[in-house]
Amino acid sequence: MLDTSSNRPALPPEIARRRTFAIISHPDAGKTTLTEKFLLYGGAIQMAGQVRAKGEARRTRSDFMKMEQDRGISVSASAMSFDFKTFRFNLVDTPGHSDFSEDTYRTLTAVDAAVMVIDGAKGVESQTQKLFEVCRLRDLPILTFCNKMDRESRDTFEIIDEIQENLAIDVTPASWPIGMGRDFLGCYDMLNDRLELMDRADRNKVAESINIQGLDDPLLDQHIPAALLEKLREEVEMARELLPALDPQAVLEGHMTPIWFGSAINSFGVKELMDGIGTYGPEPQPQSAEPRQIGPDEDKVAGFVFKVQANMDPKHRDRVAFIRLASGHFKRGMKLTHVRSKKPMAISNPVLFLAADRELAEEAWAGDIIGIPNHGQLRIGDTLTEGEALRVTGIPSFAPELLQGVRAGDPMKAKHLEKALMQFAEEGAAKVFKPNIGSGFIVGVVGALQFEVLASRIELEYGLPVRFEASQFTSARWVAGEKADVEKFVNVNKQHIAYDHDGDVVYLTRMQWDIDRVVRDHPELKLTATKEMM
Ligand code: GDP
Repeated sequence: MLDTSSNRPALPPEIARRRTFAIISHPDAGKTTLTEKFLLYGGAIQMAGQVRAKGEARRTRSDFMKMEQDRGISVSASAMSFDFKTFRFNLVDTPGHSDFSEDTYRTLTAVDAAVMVIDGAKGVESQTQKLFEVCRLRDLPILTFCNKMDRESRDTFEIIDEIQENLAIDVTPASWPIGMGRDFLGCYDMLNDRLELMDRADRNKVAESINIQGLDDPLLDQHIPAALLEKLREEVEMARELLPALDPQAVLEGHMTPIWFGSAINSFGVKELMDGIGTYGPEPQPQSAEPRQIGPDEDKVAGFVFKVQANMDPKHRDRVAFIRLASGHFKRGMKLTHVRSKKPMAISNPVLFLAADRELAEEAWAGDIIGIPNHGQLRIGDTLTEGEALRVTGIPSFAPELLQGVRAGDPMKAKHLEKALMQFAEEGAAKVFKPNIGSGFIVGVVGALQFEVLASRIELEYGLPVRFEASQFTSARWVAGEKADVEKFVNVNKQHIAYDHDGDVVYLTRMQWDIDRVVRDHPELKLTATKEMM
């Protein structure tokens, strides 16, 4: 196998062996099943089936709530670390539902690569396409797994063409399927000239590898019926002629994706994919930050918060901030500087997410994800360093697309509601705006399901029944500019002004026309639909 490490600057071995990635896919393509098999091969779980609850939970609203209640599952699935051969894999979960796209965008800032899972019968579906576009923004390397080859699927060339065309990325076959559906036998490993045969009898069994000397090897006749073998020879020859060969550098730059074919449920093709992630996937990458970027090889520890999860344990109102380490060798008990507040923080009980268990992290390296329990000091976008005033950049916050007013069922509980809402705002679960005039709050989300999830969580975690009601506003824009200019604008537009949980000024309106007018009449101000979290 090609070793691509010579193309990169040498990192300390502990860092160089890390692969931090997410899986992107359309619901039902097989992300949960694949995750299970990863963990199985990573020795992290004894039996497949343990992540199952999560995949199935997403399907209905009530099940979704159950998953949210069952924090154990969603927590351990937020980030999972496991070893495979010489590699340490850190798999960061992306929320499955499209309503949580904002959370997904932020998660993708914490990984160095993505595995794209597609269903062999369906090809590139809408959610995959969306997520792919986000990866593209950051030129994330993508490795593709074409799943469910044990079912009737599309023609292999057709699948590859569709990816190339829809996603504008070169596709190179790392394996080639032999037969499909009921006749699916396995794959020809195009990178290692091996034959991988699927065992239908035992779903958890690792496929049998048969070393062969190319496609003319007589050994093939013993394993593959003549008709299928002829087709395989023809197709592989054609593929080698028509499709680009694997170029590791192009993969690392995000211009080319290798594709493996398999069947996650039959554990087939998974091991080859994992090998591929190890060999062709990137080592921990530099992190963009102000005033300078952070290199993974730097001795000093730096990291940033990309996700906050509150109320993981209902008995303690703790939150866990998920930190991606950008550099250095972290040790438990270290004092780090919380750059936003300039305060030191002793990190005495960090958590590493070893599959199903939460475990105290004694140490961690650049590329790893650790959880830091805290009482709300840590927010999305925060940077931690050993003292230097660095600020990680590029973690977006989007203007909500849906706004609703919210009130406590019991008016005496308004203060409680405020506290709950602020916490969700910090978690990034919703935007919360306090209008300049009047009482109550306006909550903004990207997808409608989030209102229901919020209402249910507020009731569950705070014992507060709440009512969402229509708001007169439909759009929100952050207002930036010189302090005096912003103040003047606020005074003239009182009915349209609100403040977000950071106290930043937001302009609320019902009509795009209003926004256009403000943009035209106030060149001294900047109205933005996104705000970088800081
Ligand atoms: P997710 O929504 O992407 O997490 O998908 P799941 O992993 O939950 O899989 C969706 C459905 O497809 C489940 O019923 C799985 O059992 C099934 N499935 C997953 N992988 C395969 C496969 O390789 N072959 C077949 N036939 N079914 C699969």
